[in-house]
Amino acid sequence: MTRILHRSIAASLPHAVAGQGVYIQDAAGRSYIDGSGGAAVSCLGHGNVEVLDAMRAQMDRIAYAHTSFFTTDAAEDLAGKLVDLAPEGLDYVYLVSGGSEAVEAALKMARQYLVEIGQPQRRHIIARRQSYHGNTIGALATGGNAWRRAQFQPILPETHHVSPCYAYRDQRPDESADDNAQRLADELDAKIRELGADEVIAFVAEPVVGATMGAVPAVPGYFRRIREVCDRHGVLLILDEVMCGMGRTGSLFACAAEGVRPDLVTIAKGLGGGYQPIGAVMLSDAIYQAFAQGSGLFQHGHTYICHPVAAAAAGKVVEILARPGMMEQVVAMGDRLQAGLEAALGQSPFVGDIRGRGLFRGIELVVDRDSKTPFDPKMRLHARIKREAMDRGLMCYPMGGTIDGVRGDHVLLAPPYIIQPEEIDQIVERLAGAITAATAG
Ligand code: PMP
Repeated sequence: MTRILHRSIAASLPHAVAGQGVYIQDAAGRSYIDGSGGAAVSCLGHGNVEVLDAMRAQMDRIAYAHTSFFTTDAAEDLAGKLVDLAPEGLDYVYLVSGGSEAVEAALKMARQYLVEIGQPQRRHIIARRQSYHGNTIGALATGGNAWRRAQFQPILPETHHVSPCYAYRDQRPDESADDNAQRLADELDAKIRELGADEVIAFVAEPVVGATMGAVPAVPGYFRRIREVCDRHGVLLILDEVMCGMGRTGSLFACAAEGVRPDLVTIAKGLGGGYQPIGAVMLSDAIYQAFAQGSGLFQHGHTYICHPVAAAAAGKVVEILARPGMMEQVVAMGDRLQAGLEAALGQSPFVGDIRGRGLFRGIELVVDRDSKTPFDPKMRLHARIKREAMDRGLMCYPMGGTIDGVRGDHVLLAPPYIIQPEEIDQIVERLAGAITAATAG
């Protein structure tokens, strides 16, 4: 019997008792290959001795120091590393305890910045439909997933949504990628004008969409055009890299591949690699200076910001991620995963799209490949796939279909970066078996 309010109350979950490398063992002695890094968290796998040693050393020194009294070497060291490795223009770091906290902080930072520079009339946040930015009130309001929002709608602050960049479903047959990017940028431009060009605070988007769509990168040029639109209207660009950042897509920051300079970036999951709960907002010098020369404070804070043990863990994770060869390994294993999935599932009548970047891959399932019709949500195909996968000793991350009535169930794969070729092949084989079984009959 459990005394924990688990997310799914009816589910009876196996007890994880050990983890090593890309495998997790349960109390019954079963082994699972971690094909999803939990929820795209465990970038270095389980039991990494260097990270554990860094945490132990920090705990021996000091486990907690409140930020209104002290800073710590661990937090300063982590922030320095992140700034050194980030694309140019992200010069300061705000350390929190997870992804939703990072998004909340970024939203408040954006608003306070505009107040500090004398634009208090700016009050609107724009994000995209079919997006997820976290489960706290502000982050949930930002996300554009109608199902997640529905019962909380009356207590959510108002936000506005435009179309996501989703080539598989939305790029018109007669439309080039360039034209697709332009159409979506025009839609954002029109939305900003509709709300009042000087009344919008920020536009929020994930460079590669994770949970709600299943590893969907934008078409080339999309983010550059979005940046232009934001600049035209003095709107801040907040990129949410909570899931796709920290090397997941083959570059330490996913936005580096888009050639844009965001004003604020959120990171989390891979930052702590699962060893500690930690997230961060990275911000431009302009925002920092506005606070420094204005009110002199960022009016925000949580008890556990800059937690020294979390910072020490993340500092070591980031050091390992930045080592030569690590991002090349992500790209090589990601290519192998894509090729393996295409070989095993590319001809399946129920697999509409196999996509992604680096070790962040998604498979979208459809009843019919030509019409791209999603499975009936009542079938709960994603839940069936998860069950079949767990039965085969595979952790993958399936998500329900027909978000906003427009897409199919999908499976997200996000294994640790230390994964070896034969383990990639094992994931492909087990997932193909699970999908075949779940879609049969
Ligand atoms: N943003 C994105 C893009 C995410 O994928 C998530 C988590 N899935 C969050 C924010 C929220 O992060 P957390 O669950 O750590 O609060």
